[in-house]
Amino acid sequence: MILKKLVVGPFASNCYIVGSESSKEGMIIDPGDEAEVILRGVKDLGLDIKSIVLTHGHIDHIGALKEVKEAIGAEVAIHTDDAQALQENSVGAMFGVSYPTPLPPDRLLDGGDSIDIGDLHFVVLHTPGHSSGGICLLGEGIVFSGDTLFNFGIGRYDLPGGNYSQLMNSIHTKLMVLPDNTVVYPGHGPETTIGTERGGNPFLHS
Ligand SMILES: [Zn+2]
Ligand SMILES: [Zn+2]
Repeated sequence: MILKKLVVGPFASNCYIVGSESSKEGMIIDPGDEAEVILRGVKDLGLDIKSIVLTHGHIDHIGALKEVKEAIGAEVAIHTDDAQALQENSVGAMFGVSYPTPLPPDRLLDGGDSIDIGDLHFVVLHTPGHSSGGICLLGEGIVFSGDTLFNFGIGRYDLPGGNYSQLMNSIHTKLMVLPDNTVVYPGHGPETTIGTERGGNPFLHS
């Protein structure tokens, strides 16, 4: 599997470019900002991007969506409960950043849906709590956790659509049930593993 992490924009968001070694098909997870950096990354890896998957609809994860989509034309996928975010200005305004022109999604996701990229297989985990339509993407021994779970941290639950008990429930019932060696690639900050977080994440033991 090809996997490249780019840290983009003022909120230091992680954008991941994932690809199949054999078919050279790929997906982009969370094109948060700096479209030109993301597009150069795709080009350098020689990938044909099939999907742009959004872990949730916050501006720091979708800021470069329009530019990237227009450049490469891949399908845009977001959970049904966060799709509204691609059509409104609320979260962008809250963070004090200007919002790009709205762009409707091509595919609405729900928990259990599959995203297949060449020989790579991922499953959508619906993990509300940071936002109502937040997802994690599980497959190939790794999980892209968006802003649900971080390296020794958890997502904010004080933004619109956020809910603390939902967030903890999502983490415990969708993520902490995964094997210890599952590598976690979060929406911000360094990667970790489920086992590391199970053992030492202070927010999971309060
Ligand atoms: Zn967020
Ligand atoms: Zn974020």
